[in-house]
Amino acid sequence: MAKVLRCRDLGMDCPKEIRAQTEDELLKLAAEHAEKDHGFSAAMIPPSILAMVKSAIKDE
Ligand SMILES: [Zn+2]
Repeated sequence: MAKVLRCRDLGMDCPKEIRAQTEDELLKLAAEHAEKDHGFSAAMIPPSILAMVKSAIKDE
């Protein structure tokens, strides 16, 4: 079963859907997307945001 994270679910005005087989892989891809398309530095994501991202991950 794949895992999916919709950027929109994090309150972003962004249609991106990120899919991966594991949560670790998904978080890595999400960090890359956030850095490339939203200007976040992946190294600076605070634990509270990380928890929000994790809770937005759905099984597909
Ligand atoms: Zn996005």
